[in-house]
Amino acid sequence: MTAESRCIFCAIVAGKAEASVVHRDELVTAFMDVYPVNPGHTLVVPNHHSEGLEGVEEEVGGRIWAVARRIALSFGRAGILAEGVNLFLANGAVAGQTVFHCHLHVIPRHSGDGFGFKHGVFSRGRPGRAELDEQARKLALGLG
Ligand code: 5GP
Ligand code: ZN
Repeated sequence: MTAESRCIFCAIVAGKAEASVVHRDELVTAFMDVYPVNPGHTLVVPNHHSEGLEGVEEEVGGRIWAVARRIALSFGRAGILAEGVNLFLANGAVAGQTVFHCHLHVIPRHSGDGFGFKHGVFSRGRPGRAELDEQARKLALGLG
């Protein structure tokens, strides 16, 4: 059995599993999350199976972003409460990924909805400029 054949999102893309589809094109599919953080929570996935970001080419990634952006901007017109929006992608189990077919969450947010990261953004303190510059240099080299 291949990863694709066991993958719930592949089954949704193929129309073999039930889903409430918002958008489908030759590269990506968007559908409602069955355990939404808030009403309107949508997932945008590549049509081909890739566990994580490594298998998502820039063209497909660009389409995922474009469709997520359009969904985010449509919440108001669709009557979905969205004072703000989170785009969120968990790459790897340690990052919170639970379904191993890459997906971008589009999550409508409103005050008091209780959603958020457990630790504060500033919990590690602010590194010095030299450390940030060194990380930027290494990352730039890694970009190729
Ligand atoms: P992750 O934790 O991997 O970032 O997000 C996986 C998301 O997929 C979760 O928000 C979860 O509610 C959603 N999910 C899990 N199984 C299904 C399913 O069978 N159908 C749909 N539409 N969403 C699912
Ligand atoms: Zn898949």
